[in-house]
Amino acid sequence: MESSKPHAILLASPGLGHLIPVLELAKRLVTHHGFRVTVFAIAASASPAESQSLGSAASSKLLHVVELPPADISSLVDADAAVFTRIVVMMRETIPSFRAAISAMKFPPSLMIVDFFGFEALEIPEFDMPKYTFVPSNACLLALTLYVATLDVEVKGEYVDRAEPLQLPGCKPVRPEDVVDPMLDRRNQQYLEYMRMGVGITKADGILLNTWEDLEPTTLKALRDHKVMAQFAKVPIYPVGPLTRPVGKEEARSELLDWLDLQPADSVIYVSFGSGGTHSSEQLAELAWGLELSQQRFIWVVRPPIENDPSGSFFTTGKGRGEHPSDYLPEGFLTRTKNVGVVVPLWAPQVEILSHPSVRGFLSHCGWGSTLESILSGVPMVAWPLYAEQRLNATMLTEELGIAVRPEVLPTKRVVRKEEIEKMVRKVMEENHSRERVKEVMNSGERALRKGGSSYNSLSQAASTAISFHKSTGAP
Ligand code: UDP
Repeated sequence: MESSKPHAILLASPGLGHLIPVLELAKRLVTHHGFRVTVFAIAASASPAESQSLGSAASSKLLHVVELPPADISSLVDADAAVFTRIVVMMRETIPSFRAAISAMKFPPSLMIVDFFGFEALEIPEFDMPKYTFVPSNACLLALTLYVATLDVEVKGEYVDRAEPLQLPGCKPVRPEDVVDPMLDRRNQQYLEYMRMGVGITKADGILLNTWEDLEPTTLKALRDHKVMAQFAKVPIYPVGPLTRPVGKEEARSELLDWLDLQPADSVIYVSFGSGGTHSSEQLAELAWGLELSQQRFIWVVRPPIENDPSGSFFTTGKGRGEHPSDYLPEGFLTRTKNVGVVVPLWAPQVEILSHPSVRGFLSHCGWGSTLESILSGVPMVAWPLYAEQRLNATMLTEELGIAVRPEVLPTKRVVRKEEIEKMVRKVMEENHSRERVKEVMNSGERALRKGGSSYNSLSQAASTAISFHKSTGAP
């Protein structure tokens, strides 16, 4: 009986890197833990790719999807406000409609899970039920987010100007240049919003993370140790990842996969910068030349250049400006590379491409979703971080996990030249160490998700609180 099932409501925030893991978390609650689930997403922000993800989730009949009406934030943020600020404000302004939608629900919810950008929804007073924050990224980001208010007091001046790494109790030190975007300028509104987030996300009964025990044992231990990080978040930590979109149905097959079928095994590098990554015209040209010099087969998802704004396409994912790649790539590039590579404007079916046997490497912006997809496909990476927490991810991938190579200097600080690009691409395509390592990490991620694995058990534990609550309300 539907009414006898506990009902979980999940609030996603804008951006595919948030929506996809929320939908996967929702599906696991349905299929493994017997929940009825409603996912709330914000219609205002939906790019074509997000609408498609929501549409296929709704048509799967596993979940109920509710698109909340657009909140007008134009008078609340500056025209040039950072992506981070825009998302937090949009989530804040969506709370009234979220609240109204919950009150009108036929099946009262017994569990609320809120993407960390929507942390203020955790404080809606009238809804008494277990509430969790969901961080669609890793434990390292969570540790920094929880500790930023302390750093604010301890550190003088801009974080990026420091010579010494930032020390987080019990965690790996954070290099000043790796701090998340909201910490780049302490006078910017996004820094204040980020500090509020660090406190707000702890007003939950627990924090779910898109990572797993064996991937980040040191940071997870610190987050649970009351003498170190747990003093900043006195709530249980549940690593429930890696949550990624599964490979889609065969009938939705793209022509790119037909092209991949014709290429030799392990011969193609996939190049993509997530849903928002953009480059300057100069960098885009160097990338084209670097790929050409590497003489490797490639699929490259390109967007028109935007100067000085690495996340410039974040809110327009999959929407074009009408240009053809030949308008902005170096003259003759498309003709010269037509036998070895495919250039795709704006968007490509990433999970399907990464899991194709012809793909051997991934030049990526290191968004956490892309990172997990690469790991679960056993594909080593060239780490090219651009925005958000991607610099932290890139350092983890190269220095801790040994599954990626990266440019010597951060790509956002200077133009990466074609010779360096050629060298990195060749390296990831030719050497075996990172490939063997990524397969080991892939196996550990798969183990964590299986029945009885650490992430499976962790989600069961979090779900059991909601199931007990559901029973205590007198539900059959
Ligand atoms: N994605 C895709 N095709 C593209 C670009 C991105 O399918 O051309 C998907 C990708 O597979 C991932 C998500 O969009 O699941 C991007 O999330 P991620 O966390 O990597 O980065 P973000 O876009 O949030 O920066």
